[in-house]
Amino acid sequence: MLLSAFAESVGAPQQAAGAAVAVAFVALPYCFARAIEGIRHEKERGEKPLIRVSATKRCPDCAENVRDEALKCHFCGFRFPELKD
Ligand SMILES: [Zn+2]
Repeated sequence: MLLSAFAESVGAPQQAAGAAVAVAFVALPYCFARAIEGIRHEKERGEKPLIRVSATKRCPDCAENVRDEALKCHFCGFRFPELKD
């Protein structure tokens, strides 16, 4: 078996512990950096749909999302009432 051969070659338990600590020192900053990178990417990804959602309105006739500037629904042809300010 490969694993048992590795365990025998490592020998002393102190050496195995040292190897584990070395692996932890390499793996921990890597995981930490990846986690920060993932959060940053999620934030960047999450901002764009939010902007898009705010720029759309729901057609009352077919319930599809159409652009806020649209006067007519391009799904069903429903004409939105003009906004009076
Ligand atoms: Zn529609």
